[in-house]
Amino acid sequence: MTKKYDVVVIGAGPGGLTAALYASRSNLSVLILDRGIYGGQMNNTADVENYPGFENVKGPELSEKMYASAIKFGAEYGYGNVSGITDHGDHKTIHTDDGDIEALSVVIATGAQHKHLGVPGEEEYSGMGVSYCAVCDGAFFRDKDVIVVGGGDSAVEEGIYLTQLAKSVTLIHRRSELKAQQILQERAFKNDKMNFIWDAQVETIDGDGQKVTSVTYKDKNTGEQKKVEASGVFIYVGIYPITEPFKDLGILNDNGWIQTDELMKTKVPGIFAVGDVREKALRQITTAVGDGGNAGQQVYDYIQELK
Ligand code: FAD
Repeated sequence: MTKKYDVVVIGAGPGGLTAALYASRSNLSVLILDRGIYGGQMNNTADVENYPGFENVKGPELSEKMYASAIKFGAEYGYGNVSGITDHGDHKTIHTDDGDIEALSVVIATGAQHKHLGVPGEEEYSGMGVSYCAVCDGAFFRDKDVIVVGGGDSAVEEGIYLTQLAKSVTLIHRRSELKAQQILQERAFKNDKMNFIWDAQVETIDGDGQKVTSVTYKDKNTGEQKKVEASGVFIYVGIYPITEPFKDLGILNDNGWIQTDELMKTKVPGIFAVGDVREKALRQITTAVGDGGNAGQQVYDYIQELK
């Protein structure tokens, strides 16, 4: 007979690993599945300076430590690319590329992904000046000139945030006006440290092999190629949740994020969601970990009621 787990955790980022830690420490049988390497987005983070208890820790090192905690109480870990979940009420079938797995409950922790510009230099200088997270990396650009690419709420909000740290913030936008909420636009236009370049298409992110030094863009009105010097480039051209496998469960909002209550419960009993994949205000390691702790405990309560 195939094994039925108390809970399958989909995704081994900080949210999923914490949910697994809490659930396995409560003596539940737990399987963590990931289609990549455990740690999730933390693996793409050179330095984490805002995770309490660590003045500065490398993302991959924090991943190792969280993974060790997650499996310490018996949680199993395995490779698996999850393509869907079927809800049978008191149990769930998790579909993967390698077959089906049965569980009483599921924690979805598949995270989110930032859209990339897809220009030369972007990948090469990721973590060496190119960032998708001002809260994470802004402090590395104290008193330096930085560029924000984008024109929506995130770009403007994060641009304003960066003015508290950087010497100057130049927002490059491909249109002639911002898309962000009016109140954010007003704040941005009033801010002396903010500059704007309109109708501009970023073409390359340039550097010296070690770090970013400038951005080259095309002026869409004149066709001219221009360069702005900067030490950092923050890209805010969109972020999307990884929820395609869960779209038929009726748990997503209009933009594809998973809706939960404050206990991480989705609309489907026995299916929980944590971390960046949720509809939430702040997507960080700390908030994913907090979600994971709550979900691990809620899974325990749910299973006690089932048994
Ligand atoms: P993730 O870390 O995104 O992990 C999700 C996991 O799910 C991944 O391992 C993925 O492989 C797996 N997965 C996805 N789909 C499937 C599937 N279908 N089947 C199986 N597995 C799947 N936050 C901070 O607090 N401080 C920082 O300094 C910081 N710096 C950052 C720097 C960068 C460059 C980036 C990109 C993010 C940074 N963040 C930082 C944000 C932080 O990393 C995220 O908020 C956090 O990792 C979210 O955790 P999570 O568990 O929700 O998901």
